[in-house]
Amino acid sequence: MSNLTEQKRRAYLDAMGIDVWVPRDEPDIDPPLEAPPVAADALGWDELRECVSACSRCELHQGRTQTVFGVGNPDASWMIIGEAPGAEEDRRGEPFVGRAGKLLDEMLRAIGQSRGDVFIANILKCRPPNNRDPKSEEVEQCRAYLEQQISLVDPSIILAVGRVAAQNLLGTDAPVGRLRGRRHSLGDVPLVVTYHPAYLLRSPSQKRKAWDDLSMARAIARGSA
Ligand code: URA
Repeated sequence: MSNLTEQKRRAYLDAMGIDVWVPRDEPDIDPPLEAPPVAADALGWDELRECVSACSRCELHQGRTQTVFGVGNPDASWMIIGEAPGAEEDRRGEPFVGRAGKLLDEMLRAIGQSRGDVFIANILKCRPPNNRDPKSEEVEQCRAYLEQQISLVDPSIILAVGRVAAQNLLGTDAPVGRLRGRRHSLGDVPLVVTYHPAYLLRSPSQKRKAWDDLSMARAIARGSA
């Protein structure tokens, strides 16, 4: 079996929570098979999607109706990253389809983008019960999927919406109010933080700041900031 095929097999098994046993007395074929343990970075879109839908790496798989992989243009310039599916998203299998999603669509429209132009994903692919915050171990188990989505889309700009997305992507516990309004980066991809649309629904007076963030992100995506 080629190393890539073996890596994919390992990634599927790993996503399904199945341990892979390598017999001790069998010599390793080139290159060594024990590294790396999760090989989501070897997967294309279809395989990644299958891997996510079979995932049982954390307890959230027990309560989900379905996984919420992400939606949009696989070659998008803009990648929008939110927190985790809510009840409506869990039912429909698509991110940001509830009330907050409608506002996100409006925010995108304001900068000349639509849901089909961008790629929308979440930190977690499964709904946490009662919409509680994601636990760090859940974020850790889901991380390789999002990283591979980012690598496949290869966006010009990432927009992190809300505290959970911003803090987990940037590895900080600073509040959104301190993270927004400036340019960050994730590897070599520029990243802008803004408020979560669910928060904007509760605090419409902050929409002006969100507009400023979107304008800055648009200027960065155009290469003019
Ligand atoms: N909130 C999020 O962060 N993501 C969704 O998909 C829905 C609501």
